[in-house]
Amino acid sequence: MRIILFGPPGVGKGTQAKLLSEELGIPHISTGDMLRAAVTEGTELGKKAKATMDSGSLVPDDVMIGIVREVLTSPRVANGFLLDGFPRTVAQAQALASLFDELQIKNYKVIDFCVNDAEIIRRLSARVMCVNDGKIFNKLTDAVTLNSPCPECGGKLIQRIDDAEETVRKRLAIYHTTTEPVLDFYRKKGVAVQVDGMAPIETVNQEIKQLVGA
Ligand code: AMP
Repeated sequence: MRIILFGPPGVGKGTQAKLLSEELGIPHISTGDMLRAAVTEGTELGKKAKATMDSGSLVPDDVMIGIVREVLTSPRVANGFLLDGFPRTVAQAQALASLFDELQIKNYKVIDFCVNDAEIIRRLSARVMCVNDGKIFNKLTDAVTLNSPCPECGGKLIQRIDDAEETVRKRLAIYHTTTEPVLDFYRKKGVAVQVDGMAPIETVNQEIKQLVGA
């Protein structure tokens, strides 16, 4: 099963990807998580990407396409994948389409999460991340504060630099101008389906499984 989770930051793609990854037994490929791991490890990629990510801008297409090509040609995705955070530009979508042709991947679905901007800002301002294991929690739905330890590993919780309100507004603006047009690309291919990202986590999860026939 091959699924692309599409939508603005903070819409719940990561949360659903984690649930579906366990339920469907396919890997969660998050380009944001991969970049953050590269920053933590201090690799060349991480050093180059950090300032761009912190400012809420997009990492260049050629870099992202290279990263995704490496993952999608590896054996770990032989039974499928959940792609989260890619593609974010029409150029990335075109490159992914060529890669799918090359790998003879014909069946896939794009799940478009709909949530309004005000709710995104509300959710992201309340989001915290564990510095130790990168797990995401939310002050609105999980019993956490910036001063409490990570409920899973006891690590320190912080607000992601790019979740500061001004940066979130910039990320949303980039989403609307640069990423949203990707949806037309997939609508024309007839592979895009919508879910209501405002619904409870469990409802969204069931809806996605129904849409992908799981
Ligand atoms: P995310 O965790 O998906 O919100 O990604 C965090 C940041 O990583 C984004 O704001 C971008 O700076 C960068 N990033 C992740 N995926 C992509 C992508 N497909 N294209 C460009 N930049 C990306």
